[in-house]
Amino acid sequence: MINKHVVSEQAVDTRILDMCIKQRKPQVAKAYLRCLESNGYALNIYALSKYLELYLREEPTSDSEEHEIISIFDRIEKECKYIPLVTLRPCIAALCRTYKWEKTLELIKDNRMKEIGSTALSFIIIAAFKHGNVSTGLKLLYEMDDLLMASNKYPSMYDAYLNHYVEKEPEKFDKAVTKIFKFWKQFDTVPIKGIVDKFMNACNKAGWVANYVTIKRDGNCHRCSKQLSQMTIDDTIFKKLAKSVLSKTLVETDIFRSTTPEELNKFKNFIHKTKPYDIVIDGLNVTRGQADCIWLKELVNHFSQDNKKILVIARQHMYPASKWISTMENAYIYFLQNITQDDPYILYATLMSGVNAKFLSFDFFRQHIHKIESRSMRKIFRRWQYTHQYLWHYDTSAGKLILERPWLYEPYPQCNETNWHIPYRMDSEKSKLLYRPVDTWVCFQAPQK
Ligand SMILES: [Zn+2]
Repeated sequence: MINKHVVSEQAVDTRILDMCIKQRKPQVAKAYLRCLESNGYALNIYALSKYLELYLREEPTSDSEEHEIISIFDRIEKECKYIPLVTLRPCIAALCRTYKWEKTLELIKDNRMKEIGSTALSFIIIAAFKHGNVSTGLKLLYEMDDLLMASNKYPSMYDAYLNHYVEKEPEKFDKAVTKIFKFWKQFDTVPIKGIVDKFMNACNKAGWVANYVTIKRDGNCHRCSKQLSQMTIDDTIFKKLAKSVLSKTLVETDIFRSTTPEELNKFKNFIHKTKPYDIVIDGLNVTRGQADCIWLKELVNHFSQDNKKILVIARQHMYPASKWISTMENAYIYFLQNITQDDPYILYATLMSGVNAKFLSFDFFRQHIHKIESRSMRKIFRRWQYTHQYLWHYDTSAGKLILERPWLYEPYPQCNETNWHIPYRMDSEKSKLLYRPVDTWVCFQAPQK
């Protein structure tokens, strides 16, 4: 390797160890390290930390391996005051597999927790649960960056948690399960099926009654006959939400990549003069390239029969087929330039119309949500969206448009009197669907005492 100038002399060991790990030959890596050490070669910290990468996937098989991990880490720590990130991650992974896992808590001080990323953090959480330090594990779980995604990405965290209570503290099992349910409820987390299955299995063995159920839009559980909680957003929270969303959506300059300040100001003036609306319709979304805008006509008529004040946001090219809307009583149509991205306009018009205004669009506003800084505001936005968004689809067998009303009940983990209801997603669900509520649930009933 050296003679062919492929790698420098210092990097040879790292390369060889890397190859052993990638080829899944842990025994070869171990033998190589031993060979070097018995011949008196000094290994640098990069080679040592590369060796520790073995334990990203493997458990140490003996006490002597555990001791080896700890002594390698001690050498690395002695050699560098500030452990570089590429070295820190394997150190954390390996240490978490030993009785000295608590050392990692020191390593993530000084703001390094964000730096190490969620995979390394999940190792620490698993170690904490495994060693019975549940409060530390939960505290770190709260810190995970994007909780909804992260807690689904590392199901083994929940294995460690449940195993601890099943094996070590069965008398606290019921409370421990409820604690996780409350945690999911707090963050509107919808777990994946793989995780919910673990809880079902463990709970059923511990005397709970847990069953899969389908809960439709009426929000009734046919298993226990309980009704899911209503999802409401009060006026004060709504005002906070509107302020936070609008300051991000329409003030930040990137909106002008697809529109101009003039167009935006014109639109804002128009809304101020004509608001509030009951329903804002994403015209482009509804016509989907239909030249005659026939679906749009049907939907506008539907809301108009309900005496709603309607705003259709359309594009200039739709003018000939949809100008009739402006002749209707209580209906307005606003034409944007053909290149304008319309979702910020839909949001603006709806939010400016107050807490009761609804909108019809297929947009899930993912990019807008990411702009909202606070986690609690992002949660409120999602709740507002679910309770205010109409969707629709064309039923080909019936030959008609079906309007899907906004959600009335909470599509999130919740306790209804005696039963916990936990929604779950399929493990490999497409990311687009992550933003829609599910009708797949588990109804959990704790043992009656
Ligand atoms: Zn139920």
